[in-house]
Amino acid sequence: MIVKQIWTGNAYRNFNYLIACGETGEALAIDPLDHVKCLQAAKDAGWTITQILNTHEHHDHTGGNAAVVQATGAKILAHRNASGKIAGMSRGLAAGDVIKVGKTVELEALDTPGHTMCHICLKSHTEQPALFSGDTLFNAGAGNCHNGGDPGALYKTFSEQLANLPPSTLVYPGHDYIENNLRFTLDREPDNRQAEQMLGQLAGQDPKQAYVSTLEVERQVNTFLRLTSPTVIAKLRESFPDLPDKPDARTVFIKLRELRNGW
Ligand SMILES: [Zn+2]
Repeated sequence: MIVKQIWTGNAYRNFNYLIACGETGEALAIDPLDHVKCLQAAKDAGWTITQILNTHEHHDHTGGNAAVVQATGAKILAHRNASGKIAGMSRGLAAGDVIKVGKTVELEALDTPGHTMCHICLKSHTEQPALFSGDTLFNAGAGNCHNGGDPGALYKTFSEQLANLPPSTLVYPGHDYIENNLRFTLDREPDNRQAEQMLGQLAGQDPKQAYVSTLEVERQVNTFLRLTSPTVIAKLRESFPDLPDKPDARTVFIKLRELRNGW
């Protein structure tokens, strides 16, 4: 499996991806909003885009579909409940469905609601797994829920699915928000040395050569995976004085998501 991360350079800071089979040169494009860059990258590498995967229905993820289809005839895959929201879908995905790319690549669909209610993440069947997390999990952050999402559902996705992936899992998100997210982590958890060190290293990074984290790293620097940290809970209580003595993780997650909105 060859992964090409494509930095769009747009205001939304989208990352697009090409996932290719090294044997056949067939490629799947994830959320190819910047169709010009995606088509050029495929051409440069000698790859043929045969499939498009939309992680969810938002326009900054689907807006390049038509141009890529026109250029390549690629089939569009997305969550099975997204068919009324994404034009031209060929395949609706459910949890556990496997997507093959060429001869060597297998990607598994995870049904990951929360940012929207028809959001798919992809997990690669490789020795070191990779997670293409769309707008669900970001580096040091979590997707928002204000365009068709639900914070309780997002918590469930984090706690029942993402948290159970192997620590070595590589994280490939739909946007480059790492710097801003690390600042949020430090706002919530000022004694988080790993986050502080990482911000020092990554502030002003070139998103064309973006740092790729793992789930193990996310557990150290992502507030939304640190729901039992005493500092996170103590700081949260400053904003929500009614927070119970030992708040459950779901409550902490939802309050953090709420605070992040106004940040
Ligand atoms: Zn979105």
